[in-house]
Amino acid sequence: MRRQGHLIIISGPSGVGKGTVCEALKKMRPDLKVSISATTRKKRPMEKDGENYFFYTKEEFNALIDEGALLEFAQVHGNYYGTPKAYVMEQLGQGEDVILEIDVQGAMQVKQNMPGGVFIFLLPPHRDDLEARIRKRGSEDEDSIHLRLFNAKKEISMLHDYDFAVVNDEVSRCAEMVSHIIDAENQRIDAKLIENYWEEFHD
Ligand code: 5GP
Repeated sequence: MRRQGHLIIISGPSGVGKGTVCEALKKMRPDLKVSISATTRKKRPMEKDGENYFFYTKEEFNALIDEGALLEFAQVHGNYYGTPKAYVMEQLGQGEDVILEIDVQGAMQVKQNMPGGVFIFLLPPHRDDLEARIRKRGSEDEDSIHLRLFNAKKEISMLHDYDFAVVNDEVSRCAEMVSHIIDAENQRIDAKLIENYWEEFHD
């Protein structure tokens, strides 16, 4: 039974471990397609262009906006990030479920344009965990750490706009929970499923 895939949006404050959870989820669920974002942020030493992000200059990023090539975009912690539209639409059209790991501003744009999305917010077990994790990562300078902690409060205040909240107390448990949410979404009764079943039964 062919259906449109689900768009799964995962947000959460910097340091909550979104990247690690998404990595675990990818291993657990190779069926999921993960969108690779475009960004103007500097590449971190361990990152690869085209794997973690597509790294662009500000001019190149602006050109993507002008071409309408981004599903959403936002300025986050002083850099621009956006979701390339073509890949997402293509995968959804083929019935694949697609994961976007994006900030709350971007998520709200997606919510307006694609209301069928599944919006999941990852929370830290404790507020102090965020700072410890950002520092441990060692990739941010002091200004960036403060900006990310300041933004964390604003992001958590948007929780009510999401469908599900999952506490990342343990990566594998958190990834499993997200996987269960996706499974549940795939069992949802919608007009398309009823129509398909009806047709099959009357063949
Ligand atoms: P980082 O610089 O730590 O990789 O990511 C910083 C923030 O940007 C995170 O909150 C991440 O979810 C968000 N982000 C990553 N890609 C996108 C994107 O395509 N769109 C938006 N709006 N935010 C993104």
